[in-house]
Amino acid sequence: MPQIPDLINLALPGFVALLLLEVVLDAVMRRDLYQFKDTAASLAMGTGSVILGVVSKALAFAAYTGVHRFAIFNIGYQWWAWALLFFAEDLTYYWFHRTSHECRLFWASHVVHHSSQRYNLGTALRQTWTGFFMSFIFWLWLPLVGFPPVMVMTMQAVSLLYQFWVHTELVRHLGPLEWVMNTPSHHRVHHGSNQRYLDRNHAGVLIIWDRLFGTFEPEGEKVIYGLTKNINSYNPLRIAFHEWIDIWNDVRNAQDWKESLRCVFGPPGQRAEKSAELLPTSQTQ
Ligand SMILES: [Zn+2]
Ligand SMILES: [Zn+2]
Repeated sequence: MPQIPDLINLALPGFVALLLLEVVLDAVMRRDLYQFKDTAASLAMGTGSVILGVVSKALAFAAYTGVHRFAIFNIGYQWWAWALLFFAEDLTYYWFHRTSHECRLFWASHVVHHSSQRYNLGTALRQTWTGFFMSFIFWLWLPLVGFPPVMVMTMQAVSLLYQFWVHTELVRHLGPLEWVMNTPSHHRVHHGSNQRYLDRNHAGVLIIWDRLFGTFEPEGEKVIYGLTKNINSYNPLRIAFHEWIDIWNDVRNAQDWKESLRCVFGPPGQRAEKSAELLPTSQTQ
């Protein structure tokens, strides 16, 4: 088994350096991309996520290792296996991310990342504190097919690393790269609360999955960042748990068990939609 360093921890100084560079450019260009309290909240979420990441990585690794005992194929660390895994992991990320927008149980964790009304490299670090105990289930099929757990986790880290830099307003369009890669332009759309941008562009590294599965939307009208119903809070605890609390309250007030199940597993915003005929899409919470 090759010794592969923890890429995310190695990259953290680079993340901070790029963020500071964007802050300086923002000040020079007077773009007003950053707001102190918003960035402080994002950094608090990022710090908590890194700390919890120790537990989450151990949990995922244990699960992957358990499943890998029953591997269908004996796949090693050859170059073609890395190439194959790159596509398989990116496809898995697409479905995980799409589910995180379409199923409230997963949205409760992922909403954290969408809760800022700013879009900058700080927003990239605004990460969940609660997703780790279930998100890994999406990747279990990879060790089951035969990819070694270390390889899978490394590819997940590569994807996360890639996704950092797309959180910027300062890069506009990248020509033909926009056809295949997830870019700042595509991901700005993903963070939009405009009706036409809701639940679009779930890509990790490659935008091809959105084009293939019908969730692609190019950047057109000016993006309004955040949720359709913003939480207006910089309190990390509120950012981390508000949707869980809402689910709990909705389940308690549900008329029957079917409605309870819908509150947890249905699309986000369903109760609001039911009572006020609001948006049938996830970012309504
Ligand atoms: Zn998302
Ligand atoms: Zn993002």
